[in-house]
Amino acid sequence: MAAKRINPRRIKLHHSYSVEDVARTLGVHKNSVRAWLTKGLAPIDRRRPMLFDGKVLRAFLERQRGHRKRTCLPGTMYCFRCREPRRPALAMVDYVPINAASGNLKALCDTCGTIMHRRARLSGVAAVMPGIAVHMAEASPRLRGCGSASLNCDLAKEA
Ligand SMILES: [Zn+2]
Repeated sequence: MAAKRINPRRIKLHHSYSVEDVARTLGVHKNSVRAWLTKGLAPIDRRRPMLFDGKVLRAFLERQRGHRKRTCLPGTMYCFRCREPRRPALAMVDYVPINAASGNLKALCDTCGTIMHRRARLSGVAAVMPGIAVHMAEASPRLRGCGSASLNCDLAKEA
């Protein structure tokens, strides 16, 4: 299920919200709001209908958002198949520039072999991939054209 972009700032701090209010205000399904109860969102009390304190709700949402945005630790990239940050297989990472300042790191997941991507600033590559010899591509292989069916070209097509 795709994560929906929720803006915690829509929640007013000094309001209380019912499940319906939360769903309407944030544009999510009521079931999503109920699911948050299992993730640590606490209602004001046990009475029905359930009410949430705006402050508590906003703090919960910000925390959730922080979780999702949590970036991978140095030396790892997010593998969408494993749904975990993984190390690059064989410590092999390619840097493909997007522009002068930043580009994409590409590597294979050391667990499942899926291609992983991670955005990085050129100046930050060493910090993101410490102790890993990142291979710097000069320009997108697509622009140079693929003469032979090299591994590089295959990777570029996946991008
Ligand atoms: Zn993987």
